Amino acid sequence: MGVSPEAAARLSALPPAVRRGEPATWMNPGRRPAADALADAEMGAADLEAAEARWRRFAPLLARLFPEIEDGRIDSRLLALPEATARAVVAGGSGRVWVKADHDLPVTGCIKARGGVYEVLAYAERLAAGAGLLEGAADYGAFAAAPFRAMFARHVVAVGSTGNLGFSVGLMARALGFAVEVHMSHDAKAWKKERLRALGAAVIEHPGDYGSAVAAARAAFADRADAHFVDDEDSRDLFLGYAAAARDLRRQLAAAGIPVDAEHPLFVYLPCGVGGAPGGVAFGLSLLFGDAVRPVFVEPVAAPCMLLQLAAGPEHPVSVYAIGLDNRTAADGLACASASLLAARAAGPLVEAVVTVADDALFRWLRRLWDEAGLRLEPSAAAGFAAVAPFAAGIDPGLAARATHLVWTTGGAHLPDAEFEAALARGRTAA
Ligand SMILES: *Cc1c(COP(=O)(O)O)cnc(C)c1O
Repeated sequence: MGVSPEAAARLSALPPAVRRGEPATWMNPGRRPAADALADAEMGAADLEAAEARWRRFAPLLARLFPEIEDGRIDSRLLALPEATARAVVAGGSGRVWVKADHDLPVTGCIKARGGVYEVLAYAERLAAGAGLLEGAADYGAFAAAPFRAMFARHVVAVGSTGNLGFSVGLMARALGFAVEVHMSHDAKAWKKERLRALGAAVIEHPGDYGSAVAAARAAFADRADAHFVDDEDSRDLFLGYAAAARDLRRQLAAAGIPVDAEHPLFVYLPCGVGGAPGGVAFGLSLLFGDAVRPVFVEPVAAPCMLLQLAAGPEHPVSVYAIGLDNRTAADGLACASASLLAARAAGPLVEAVVTVADDALFRWLRRLWDEAGLRLEPSAAAGFAAVAPFAAGIDPGLAARATHLVWTTGGAHLPDAEFEAALARGRTAA
């Protein structure tokens, strides 16, 4: 990807550690007061409300399709860490540490169950409304009935994915009876392809990286009236599905007696791939809490695509290859060379900092969280833990003492045993 001269100048001003692929903490110079940033955003409070209302409409369907969620809500627990682990996370700093346990989210065991499931539901709702099927339906449990399924079976849901998005979209779309195509880069993990095929999804492999798989699929589905392409790099529905997590978290914070206000900031550590999931969550939280929420995005040292995009500015698309990084990381959920411009525009001005972390650190934290807290994480999902100490070292100590650090664990519960064991083993030997 070529880079404009203006963007090139901004990238050349990046800290040398970022360019060298070493851990770095980058304070976002483009951060703005939440009220200003949100006033200029292309989405707003009404969109968040609408997303929450859609989740509520579909609760009877979700409860019916997935008996593990009796109330039909796809949400995770808010967990405290054992004292000693929490102390190690802040490493000599202060503030309380909590975990938002999306690694154990119902249905697909990863944060994509928020965005991916939501986008499939939105598409199904549009189709059903267009076909007049909603008239006379008592509630959305009707989406599981024969006339709905017959119509969905004539439509394709397609997605480009490194694995987790494809799984969440594929699972939901297959549960409704859609045909599903998942476009993956050829180096995507074999077990992820098999898991999709087992759902009845077609898996199409592409040469090149994740971005090229998405681009190829986007082109293939551009003109198809019988298909919907879930565009990880440019989807409002995905973004808003993630954003709706904010309301659930607010309820949990209140129930746990955790204050979030100007005196008691909430630092939220979000693993970032293309940026839709962390961007949506940061956006939703900022709508609810304003400047009291301070989102910190976390990226692998080899794939800091959002850091570069925020540095270059949203009008100048960049990729990590432009500064000589190779996008190679064991954190496959975060292995993205280019960020979503939609996420960069909507959430970029809300981001306090981006912290980059080395793969070894992910595995060390993965092991530690399993040994000490029983959390089953995939490497991507451990990223937040590696970011707290480097970031917190730069916070005013008085403020830090009153702060809460919330680490968002984004996936892992459904990792096959062999994968998890291998990750644990690497965590035991990682330097
Ligand atoms: C997809 C994913 C992320 C990041 O989400 P993006 O929308 O790509 O930024 C983080 N962790 C896990 C486990 C994921 O699957």
